Amino acid sequence: MADDILKAFGISAQQSGVSTGKHWLEAGGADIVSVSPVDNKTIATVKSADRSNYDAVIAVAQEAFKEWRQWPAPRRGEIVRQIGEALRAHKEQLGRLVSYEMGKSLQEGYGEVQEMIDICDFAVGLSRQLYGLSMHSERPGHRMYEQWHPLGITAIISAFNFPVAVWSWNSMLAWVCGNVCVWKPSEKTPVTALACQRIVETVFAANNVPEGVCCLVTGGRETGEWMSNDHRVPLVSATGSTRMGKSVGAAVGARLGRSLLELGGNNAIIVSKDADLDMTLIGAVFGAVGTAGQRCTSTRRLIIHESVYDAFTAKLVKAYAQLRIGNPLDEKNHVGPLIDKDAVNAYLSTISQVKEQGGTFLVEGGVLEGAGYESGCYVKPCIAAVENTYAIVQHETFAPILYVMKYQTLTEAIAMQNDVPQGLSSAIMTLNLREAEQFLSAAGSDCGIANVNIGTSGAEIGGAFGGEKETGGGRESGSDAWKAYMRRQTNTINYSDKLPLAQGIKFDL
Ligand code: NAD
Repeated sequence: MADDILKAFGISAQQSGVSTGKHWLEAGGADIVSVSPVDNKTIATVKSADRSNYDAVIAVAQEAFKEWRQWPAPRRGEIVRQIGEALRAHKEQLGRLVSYEMGKSLQEGYGEVQEMIDICDFAVGLSRQLYGLSMHSERPGHRMYEQWHPLGITAIISAFNFPVAVWSWNSMLAWVCGNVCVWKPSEKTPVTALACQRIVETVFAANNVPEGVCCLVTGGRETGEWMSNDHRVPLVSATGSTRMGKSVGAAVGARLGRSLLELGGNNAIIVSKDADLDMTLIGAVFGAVGTAGQRCTSTRRLIIHESVYDAFTAKLVKAYAQLRIGNPLDEKNHVGPLIDKDAVNAYLSTISQVKEQGGTFLVEGGVLEGAGYESGCYVKPCIAAVENTYAIVQHETFAPILYVMKYQTLTEAIAMQNDVPQGLSSAIMTLNLREAEQFLSAAGSDCGIANVNIGTSGAEIGGAFGGEKETGGGRESGSDAWKAYMRRQTNTINYSDKLPLAQGIKFDL
């Protein structure tokens, strides 16, 4: 299947992974071999960027910015509209490629491309709404207002689990804001990035967009470090683990640049005694096993009221027995593989640590073997009864391991939900208005996302997306997240024939 898709995007089996948006450079870095976790087959070998490739790309991007920033924002929006159209035309193929290279279900692969289309639509509207405020000056004959200008190069470092959507959340907004983008995709999913680059290149060529507005530099951690330490890059938007974010944040902070960090989560659903348990079951199971537990918003913890604990965990165990694990391109299956063997080892190590720390398994885990599971990346979703205070529970393991725990009062449940280092997504399932409002209040959830009667997983692009504490504090996508991609300028214009000073200061010559 890979060959057909590669052909559709004009990608060869041995391909440069460095592009300025118009030219593919001869890449001098290491080979990245993309292997599908679905069937262990090699999809393509991508040549990554060396330092001189990287510097060449940044130089082209700097030149492009000088022109692109002067295009009217609605005209930039028109280009993004056309990218949305191109993505609609390629939704099937790109969705399949995402599913095959990353291992998520085909439905989720299509969903990821739909999210890209949605953010294009959002960005088109935004291109006419980059509003600044106007203020009343304290001085006569003066006008004061603020405007938003583009920043320059936006470096985008993305994770494997949303290999293309995260890039689009950043790049579509950055482009309408007048920035140019340099993307370093995850080294685990370079081929989907090549496909996106091809799609955008075609649209840009048809519109004479300057070379350097959409750049791609494939590579690993070191390439990300070049970006973090590069004073030519005013904004680094990085999505990935908290470990990575601490390193990027420190490097960008040391040069007083801007970083937008979207890092790990440890998301919980509080299951109240007043919850609709049937509805809760769907949210909890999809949240825990969807994308094989490899979403930043995956449900990791269920904090269940003691009076419904036995009934609800019995439902969960029954539901897990019905899960079909297998090739994610087969729509009958609920759960696909983990991304690679390292992820399988992390899953197994977490299971051992849960046991060592006193947890008991309601549904046992394990690695699947035999026909259809030859890649060695398919694992069983499992459920463990634990205490929130276990060190392993405080840590995000990117795998389908669900922790269950009991509570007595809502205050106690909220404290447990908040008592982890991460602060991305949270939810309460309750039909009780008082409980819902307490959960959403200033004394409630401390996460960037707090839902009522919806699980933790699967956000809409219209809201600002991101989280607090070790999740990094950044916001992407909807609402006014665009402001992170621009610089604010306050302008005061004197149209009088006097020069009064602010605060009434007298200065006569
Ligand atoms: P990762 O941190 O291993 O890698 C992410 C990206 O960072 C890759 O492109 C990698 O090459 C790069 N990188 C790694 N170390 C770096 C460094 N020191 N400097 C610069 N770049 C560096 O993460 P992953 O395994 O690809 O993704 C899983 C993680 O991403 C999970 O923790 C998940 O929660 C998180 N995630 C968060 C969000 C969010 O929006 N909050 C979304 C998706 C994924």
